[in-house]
Amino acid sequence: MAKRDYYEVLGVDKNAAAADIKKAYRKLALKYHPDKNPDDKEAEEKFKEAAEAYEVLSDENKKAKYDRFGHAGMGGAAGGGGFGGGMSMDDIFSQFGDIFGGAGFGGFSGFGGGGGRQGGRRVNRGSNIRVKVTLSLKDIVNGVEKKIKVKKYVKCNTCGGNGAEGGSGFSTCDTCNGSGQVNRVTNTFLGQMQTVSACPKCGGEGKTITNKCNTCHGDGIVKDDETIELKIPAGVEDGMQLSVTGKGNMGARNGVPGDLIVLVEEEEHPQLKRDGNNILFDLYISFADAILGTEVMVPTVNGKAKIKIEPGTQGGKVLRLRNKGIPDINGYRTGDQLVNVNVWTPQKLSKEEKAAIEKFRDSKNFEPQPTANDKGFFERMKDYFH
Ligand SMILES: [Zn+2]
Ligand SMILES: [Zn+2]
Repeated sequence: MAKRDYYEVLGVDKNAAAADIKKAYRKLALKYHPDKNPDDKEAEEKFKEAAEAYEVLSDENKKAKYDRFGHAGMGGAAGGGGFGGGMSMDDIFSQFGDIFGGAGFGGFSGFGGGGGRQGGRRVNRGSNIRVKVTLSLKDIVNGVEKKIKVKKYVKCNTCGGNGAEGGSGFSTCDTCNGSGQVNRVTNTFLGQMQTVSACPKCGGEGKTITNKCNTCHGDGIVKDDETIELKIPAGVEDGMQLSVTGKGNMGARNGVPGDLIVLVEEEEHPQLKRDGNNILFDLYISFADAILGTEVMVPTVNGKAKIKIEPGTQGGKVLRLRNKGIPDINGYRTGDQLVNVNVWTPQKLSKEEKAAIEKFRDSKNFEPQPTANDKGFFERMKDYFH
C-alpha cells in the first residue's frame, strides 16, 4: 500500500507551525480514537496513520529528514518493508497519551504494556532489534547486500511457540473468564469512571498454560542466531535508519515479531569526500601543468577517470564528472563528482629557477586578467596594478 504524504494525512501545510501540527493531530486522534470507534478497523488504521505522521512531523530531526527524503528517509527502503506498519497502539498511547488532555477518555489502559489486541485478546509483540552497519562510499553509491548475524528471540520449536509442554494445553483464565480484560470502576471528581485494563493473572491472553514447556519455560520463544540479508539501497546517509519489518524479536507465545532497525554508519573514504549527493575531490596540479595543460587521472568511487586540464587553467576551477556521484535515495537523480583544481605554487626554487621566473615578473602575459564575466575586475584590482 502506498503511503500517504504525512502533511496530507494531517491536513496541514508544509510550513505549518508546530502548534498547528499538534492541533491537527489532536483533532484526528480524537475523531478516530478506538474508544469512540470500537471494532472499527478503518478508524484504527486512520488513528495509526495520523499518529505515524505526527510522530515524524512533531520531531524536528525526523521532519527535516522527511522533507528531504520523503518516506524513504524514514527507513522504508530496506527490504521494501515500509515503516513497519507504523506505530502500535501501545507506542501511540505511551508517546502521545498526553495529547488527549487526560480527561474525556477513561481508559487507555486497555492497551497497556507491550502488546496489541486481536479479537479482544492481547497479542505479544516482540521488541525491535537495533543493529549498526558500516558502509563504504562504494556501498553507498552502488547499493549493497549485507549479511548480518543477529542474536534474537525466535519461536520455540519444542512447543511450537505456544509455551505449553507436550500439547498439555491451556485452561481459561479464571480471573477474567477468558476475556483478557478486567473492568474496574473508580470514583473520580468527574464522577464514576469505568476503566478496562489487562488481566493481571494471564497478562491479557485470556488463558493460562497447564504445564509449561521445559525448553522455553512457557514463553514460547528462545534465543538463537539468525543470519539476515539486508538489501541496502544506493544513496543512504550516515545516521539514517532502515527498518526491516518483522525481523526483530519474536513475541512471546505465538505473538508477532518486532522489527529490525538498521542504523547506517558511513566509513570515511581515503581520497573522496561526500557532500550531499555529490562527491568532492581536491586535485593539485603544478604551475607548469596549469599553464601548458595536461591530462590527469583522478580517483572516483568506481575506478579512475581521466580529466583534461586546459592550457591556462586557473586555480579554483571546478571540473564536473557528471553522474559520478551518489544516486538520490528516491531515485530522482544521481549526483556528480566535483574536482576542485588547485594550482600548486612552488615554495622552494633553485637559483636558476628563480632567475627564470624573475624574467617573467614584468611580462604582460603574467598579469592577472579578468575572466569573461568579471566586469568590475580593474576597478577592484586597481591597488594591485598601482
Ligand atoms: Zn517451548
Ligand atoms: Zn485473565
